[in-house]
Amino acid sequence: MKTYLSSKNHLCLIGGGHTHVMVIRQLLAKPLRNTDITLISPDAHTAYSGMLPGLIAGHYSFEECHINLHRLCQWAGIKFVRSSVERINLDLQIINCSRIPPIKYDLLSINIGSHPAIHGIRGAETYGHAIKPVGNFLLHWSLWLKSHAGSRRKRHIVVIGGGAGGIEVLLAMHYRLQNTTTLDASYTLINADSTILAAHNSAVQNFFIRHLQSLNITVKNGRVASIDRHLLHLQDGSSLEYDFAVWATHAGAYSWPAESGLRCNTQGFIMINQYLQSIEHHNIFAAGDCAAFLPKALPKAGVFAVRQGTVLSNNIIATFTQKKLIPFEPQQRFLSLLTTGRKHAVVSRGLIFLQGKWVWHWKNYIDRKFMQHFHP
Ligand SMILES: Cc1cc2nc3c(=O)[nH]c(=O)nc-3n(C[C@H](O)[C@H](O)[C@H](O)COP(=O)(O)OP(=O)(O)OC[C@H]3O[C@@H](n4cnc5c(N)ncnc54)[C@H](O)[C@@H]3O)c2cc1C
Repeated sequence: MKTYLSSKNHLCLIGGGHTHVMVIRQLLAKPLRNTDITLISPDAHTAYSGMLPGLIAGHYSFEECHINLHRLCQWAGIKFVRSSVERINLDLQIINCSRIPPIKYDLLSINIGSHPAIHGIRGAETYGHAIKPVGNFLLHWSLWLKSHAGSRRKRHIVVIGGGAGGIEVLLAMHYRLQNTTTLDASYTLINADSTILAAHNSAVQNFFIRHLQSLNITVKNGRVASIDRHLLHLQDGSSLEYDFAVWATHAGAYSWPAESGLRCNTQGFIMINQYLQSIEHHNIFAAGDCAAFLPKALPKAGVFAVRQGTVLSNNIIATFTQKKLIPFEPQQRFLSLLTTGRKHAVVSRGLIFLQGKWVWHWKNYIDRKFMQHFHP
């Protein structure tokens, strides 16, 4: 690493996830002297996950729940490179991206998120739509909606994954179709765990079980073994026809960090210490879903990705200025606000369960306030 006052350093931020947008926001307030900064992202906009179900349901516009990375970078004096990282050369400190020349770095930070784990499900790379990357999903969903909106045949929508993301997306799709189209559809949620919303308390689980029943949404227990063009095959031998299938299984890791030689856990997540540094490469930070925080296993949730932003920006500056790094101290419990399709939501925290339209309006207030930070 060059010293702070020698020739310019190059900080590369890979991925415009929840942590990096917070870092950029903080670098605006405390600019890094003598350092060029580059953000590499395949998309010019990044989705704020808390508002994603609301976008699918039709409560928000695209602009309301996306951060314009290009504009944010311009605002912060950061170079924005629209590309996808394919590999890094750890010895030469070079990043290889698609369609552009390699980029050299002094300090690197990785915040590339995760994608639904579909490894081992035959046909899953080809059929169905993964909820992440979000941009791809939104595109396929809107194309499907447009091409089927006037259809008379009853369609079958299937979401695979009984966690919060899968259920919120399914309820949002249901709300959208019921309220803005004449399309007749049936809905199935496929859940491989012993119960839906396994990470939440039983009052929250029971509320959603009843809510899904009241909307005639079928919950099927089982594990998908394979998928072809219009048929899902479960491990118990049963099959299910579908018209639009969504992969919303638990978080899986992108393969290139491990393939590049970064120390990753068995699932492929980058192993980081309490300072959010790669355990073997201290000039590389990682945060959010793509990282495995070794001091304590963390849920793959945007709350942690956002909170890591302050520590990450501090530690990036501290590395360049040779100051002390600070540890990330995750909270024990966190509040989840789960949407139910319409403008209504549920509070889940430990054993707490509350629900109502007021929860949705409260969540809406929090989410919009968060997004205001990113509008210059
Ligand atoms: C429907 C849904 C609702 C959710 N709701 C909530 C919620 O209410 N609260 C909550 O806490 N969590 C929620 N989550 C979970 C949350 O989405 C994730 O935990 C969060 O997005 C992780 O943030 P991140 O910063 O790690 O990455 P992300 O925000 O996912 O961003 C990763 C970024 O990296 C980019 N990228 C990927 N690959 C590359 C590459 N090779 N090169 C360069 N850039 C790359 C992507 O384009 C993306 O912009 C929800 C998830 C889903 C699916």
